[in-house]
Amino acid sequence: MLILVCNVGSTSLKYKLFNMPSTDILVEAKTERVGRTDAIFSYRNNLSGFSEKLEEVPVLGYADGIRLFLRYLLGEKSGALRSIDELEAIGFKTVLAKGYYGVHELTEEVLAAMEAYVRVAPAHNPPYIEAIRVFRSLLPDRLMVGCFETAFHTTIPLSRRIYALPYEWYEEYGICRLGYHGASHGYIARCIRERAGEHFRLISCHMGGSGSICAIQDGKSVDTSFGFSLQTGIPHANRAGDLDAYVIPFLLSQGLSMEEILDGIDKKGGLLGISGVSNDLRDIQQAAEAGNDRAALAIDAFCDAVVKYIGAFYTELGGMDYLVFTGGIGENSALVREKICTRLSCLGVKFDSEANRALRGEGVLSTPDSPARVLVLPTNEEVGIARTIYEKVSAGELRS
Ligand code: ADP
Repeated sequence: MLILVCNVGSTSLKYKLFNMPSTDILVEAKTERVGRTDAIFSYRNNLSGFSEKLEEVPVLGYADGIRLFLRYLLGEKSGALRSIDELEAIGFKTVLAKGYYGVHELTEEVLAAMEAYVRVAPAHNPPYIEAIRVFRSLLPDRLMVGCFETAFHTTIPLSRRIYALPYEWYEEYGICRLGYHGASHGYIARCIRERAGEHFRLISCHMGGSGSICAIQDGKSVDTSFGFSLQTGIPHANRAGDLDAYVIPFLLSQGLSMEEILDGIDKKGGLLGISGVSNDLRDIQQAAEAGNDRAALAIDAFCDAVVKYIGAFYTELGGMDYLVFTGGIGENSALVREKICTRLSCLGVKFDSEANRALRGEGVLSTPDSPARVLVLPTNEEVGIARTIYEKVSAGELRS
């Protein structure tokens, strides 16, 4: 079953083509700088070895970007399909929609429910809605599926999802902790199940431009650091993470506008806000090494927040068999992993610093006698989405 998975960013479009049940990637492509005349498009057909990179190409919007990709996908030299009819489904790593928290065919009702939550996910929902509409206009009969990032977290008990607010707000507006990064944590849970069998206690740390920690019991999410919106949890690249709600009315009373405050929380906050250097940990680590105190503070604040969630989730799970790091920071920053893991000996982590420093890609960071196994596993959200769609279609839960 040929499934295309499309990952839509505010300025990027990424694609992976699978022929499920094989999880081999047949085609991968990416357009960066969507909306500009100097966009970058890269395309690789792993079947034929064809690969091309175009720089300074005009891609003025998602429609342009998607047409460009489809041209390559069907091209004589570059193509992996003879006809677009061979493509059976297109999957999207959609973020959230009011009332739709699982895996859903992207009907007009579901798109309207995504629109209803634009205010909650302003950086994520509008690009997805636009890209999905473009795909629908170009390929009106194709099955389009949204694997909502909240889906994996629907197993969290209500006592951990509910905010201590008037209950009517939960009933009327759906205000509760929803959780995100479901495709990534779900993929990690599946990798651990393949090693450990059905029963395990896992804490999955997805740390990238956005970050979240997830407590997983026997493959199911039982808690997450993310709340109602993506503005919560551990500090992110540009977003604050957990914040006392009363900071907002106080800053309003000091003369800041709501727009300025939200800008501070979701664009100028996070690692960028504390460090004043960059939203990218590579730059921050370099600055800290050169003696920049705010850069060092940003790294410490980030690691403290992660340690706090790991401690909380350890007690909720009643122990920890596996701790996994993933995402751009989790997979690449030996410094952050070291700062976190050296504080977890009280939770049964025997950390192998040398293995950590030497590691590139996937590997084990705990000693053989460590009660908790610590791993780095590169995430693969697209495989998770393709698998989910394949399984749902095969089970007759989605039309084929
Ligand atoms: P996103 O969350 O946007 O999908 P990633 O998961 O790829 O992105 O994470 C990107 C982030 O990972 C970068 O912003 C940077 O902070 C961090 N990162 C990437 N490579 C390294 C590295 N070699 N060392 C430290 N941090 C890194």
